[in-house]
Amino acid sequence: MAKRLVVIGAGESGVGSAILAQKQGFDVWVSDAGKIQDKYKDVLIKYTIPFEEGKHSEEQLLNADLVVKSPGVPDAAPLIKKLKARGVPVISEIEFAGRYNQAKTICITGSNGKTTTTMLIYHLLQTAGLKVGLAGNVGQSFAWQVAEKTYEYYVLELSSFQLDGMYEFKADVAILLNITPDHLDRYDYQLQNYVNSKFRILQNQTANDFFIYGADDPIIQKELDKRSISATCLPFGWEKAPGNGAGIEGEDLVINWKKKSFNMSIFDIALQGKHNTYNSMAAGLAGMVLTIKNDKIRESLSDFKGVEHRLERFLTVHGIEFINDSKATNVNSTWYALESVSKPIIWIAGGVDKGNDYEALNDLVKDKVRAIICLGVDNQKIKEAFAGLVPDIIETEDMTDAVRSAYYLAKNGETVLLSPACASFDLFENYEDRGRQFKDAVREL
Ligand code: ADP
Repeated sequence: MAKRLVVIGAGESGVGSAILAQKQGFDVWVSDAGKIQDKYKDVLIKYTIPFEEGKHSEEQLLNADLVVKSPGVPDAAPLIKKLKARGVPVISEIEFAGRYNQAKTICITGSNGKTTTTMLIYHLLQTAGLKVGLAGNVGQSFAWQVAEKTYEYYVLELSSFQLDGMYEFKADVAILLNITPDHLDRYDYQLQNYVNSKFRILQNQTANDFFIYGADDPIIQKELDKRSISATCLPFGWEKAPGNGAGIEGEDLVINWKKKSFNMSIFDIALQGKHNTYNSMAAGLAGMVLTIKNDKIRESLSDFKGVEHRLERFLTVHGIEFINDSKATNVNSTWYALESVSKPIIWIAGGVDKGNDYEALNDLVKDKVRAIICLGVDNQKIKEAFAGLVPDIIETEDMTDAVRSAYYLAKNGETVLLSPACASFDLFENYEDRGRQFKDAVREL
């Protein structure tokens, strides 16, 4: 008899898993406690996959042989606990798809920079003419593609939530960009739990595999001191490049791998700012170990267009540049945004604060920020944090007002930077909505 596979959550990854499971001969059932989007419902109907929405019928779920759970459903959900207590394996979509995937995988995790680096590596492999798919947190689900496409490589963006549901999966090339405290509410407020989750990117790797990591990151370094790593380690950092790894020499990004060496002026890299140079190092290292030619690596690092809402240099109006960094939802990513802008800044910040400590921004703010436009329902913390450092702090409650105020205050040659350091859901649907509203308001100036 066919094994029974239950998919919990009918979003992109759940529906993809259901399609792959059906193809692999499972008896599939999809259950979503909320409302399923019409586009996914249509797909389930087209593939004649049975589903329910608005509830979880336990009698349909508890007899599963295997459960694939969407990353949004927490392990602590009562249903998941019940399944686990019964000994039913609960895995993630990536784990499930990985069991049927033949292509090599390049997997990217970290607290910040995942999407940017994932897209950059995807661009690099495409430039090199390889047959490559893109999945994880971005685009079409991995499982769906494994069911219906054939690629030589996949570039996968993996969040810690996805990694938590992965057991047998192995990355051929694993990339760990950085670790800063984030999402600690999902990890019992223990940083170590979050670190362990990120380090799952290394599980099952052997000496034939690669581990690319941010060597300047103190949390990563501390953890590495405790572990022995089977894969070939390739660090990247702001020092001189090691024998195998990436670094900075003068004004050049240098990558060494075996007897080969790559170098390129940091001014020729499309993505500017120190954080993006790290991302470019990680991408270049991945290219080197996949034996992509230097000229292809150089070409792709220099013509990459960037990703929307991540330090997106949007428009210059009367000599004032507007940068959309709406995706900066924590202090660390905003630190890098402030660091990367060389002109005086009118900074639009605020939103829902996830327990931010703004002190890390003090030096940069003192040096570079001329005025702060607060854009949030509660701006008290930002006002208090920077009151002594910045003379002009203005409060606004909608984007048009924020952009107009910034434009009014900015002088020719200055930069208006939206880099909120906070989540967006007090005034916006999500960070994309916030970024789009910013750009609309700038267009209307
Ligand atoms: P993620 O997918 O990990 O959230 P993104 O590529 O979407 O990362 O970028 C999120 C934010 O972090 C953006 O504001 C971006 O400018 C910033 N950022 C990108 N790369 C890094 C990095 N290596 N270190 C710190 N911040 C970064």
